[in-house]
Amino acid sequence: MTSIEDYVEVTGENVIDRLRQLARPLQGLKVVHVNSTYVGGGVAEILSTMVPLQKDLGLDVRWKVIRGQEAFFQVTKSFHNALQGVQVPLRDAFFKVYEETNVQNSEELRSILEEADIVVIHDPQPLPLLRSCPNRRGKWIWRCHIDLSHPFRPVWQYLRKYVMEFNASIFSLADFAQPLPHIQYLMQPSIDPLSDKNKELTPDEVLATKLQLGLDPKRPIMLQVSRFDRFKDPLGVIKTYKLVKTFAPDLQLVLAGGEATDDPEGAAVLAEVREGAGADENIHILLLPPDAHTTINALQRGADLVLQKSVKEGFGLTVTEALWKGKPVIGGDAGGIRLQVVNYHTGFLVKTPEGAALRSRYLLRHPEKAQEMGRTARELVRQNFLLTRNLQEYLSIFMSTIYGDQERLELQMAT
Ligand code: UDP
Repeated sequence: MTSIEDYVEVTGENVIDRLRQLARPLQGLKVVHVNSTYVGGGVAEILSTMVPLQKDLGLDVRWKVIRGQEAFFQVTKSFHNALQGVQVPLRDAFFKVYEETNVQNSEELRSILEEADIVVIHDPQPLPLLRSCPNRRGKWIWRCHIDLSHPFRPVWQYLRKYVMEFNASIFSLADFAQPLPHIQYLMQPSIDPLSDKNKELTPDEVLATKLQLGLDPKRPIMLQVSRFDRFKDPLGVIKTYKLVKTFAPDLQLVLAGGEATDDPEGAAVLAEVREGAGADENIHILLLPPDAHTTINALQRGADLVLQKSVKEGFGLTVTEALWKGKPVIGGDAGGIRLQVVNYHTGFLVKTPEGAALRSRYLLRHPEKAQEMGRTARELVRQNFLLTRNLQEYLSIFMSTIYGDQERLELQMAT
């Protein structure tokens, strides 16, 4: 069982004391988080530790996942693409399947949701649930993890009608905020430093993983960890690798990904990636199971170059994970990557494969500089992107939402 006390060793006593203090007026608060998958992608990654820790702090927290047929996830994936700027085709049938699937889910979830003090709906998939809960007694918050800076308007206009009925929204970046009739909070995601994905590993464990995956531990490794998604630009990574090969011929590329149950496009993108890789046996395309956290941890620790060449990115937890492991990241100049990758300090922001190749050459040729950047990178994460900070913000938002600002201040003074 995860306990908040375990985090003292990473953050110090003060941070944990503050969390306990913040949680005091929230004891027994009924909170339900709803998203669309237990595995794969950043939302599931965060909830899998956020939920137990909120419980450990005395809140009565549940995590519910909506279910749907493939058609539903195709529609929600196309909404996801549209919110990140892609002009997707629209058909009445799409809206129908989206709305009906939510109504079906509400049959099972209604009593829990209507009873809750706070419902946090993650991303667009479960948005319409609110309308199926007419006797809701709590406050509803929409937590958007997507890069909403330039949405395809027709889809956003449609989804906005649902969002407007919420009591608050949370976005990862100010750039993503939208005209809405309720309060909007900014909250960056975070990583769990004690999880299998991020805990310390010995050099032997890292070596064993490389050998097990058929990698040559003596030769440099370029890595991108991501779902097979076009926004993550895996083909751009292959192009970068081919450019870097011209001056580092023994380079190996690892594209590590897996499936998210709410992302039906993965197979098509994987096929494109396989075609892009051709017969090059130094390109390792890994389809990992959802619980391969230690393998990903070892790959991130063992990589010489970490890329996250996304063209759109809500936040990019894979960037945070690599920075925490002391690796500078060559990241696409997009969304939340901009918050984490500070040029020449924690990595490099790039727009093209040529730019990524140039920065790869710099890091390969200046290992001391890469190490120095890695130390800065870890510190950036320690100060800004650990779970404890995120937890504190959730508690503050719950408090504001339940009690309102004035009462909250009085409560804080009284505790
Ligand atoms: N991830 C994983 N297995 C994979 C690919 C990704 O466990 O095969 C994890 C990755 O380590 C990270 C999360 O899924 O924790 C992806 O989050 P991110 O914010 O980078 O992207 P998203 O998938 O949410 O767009």
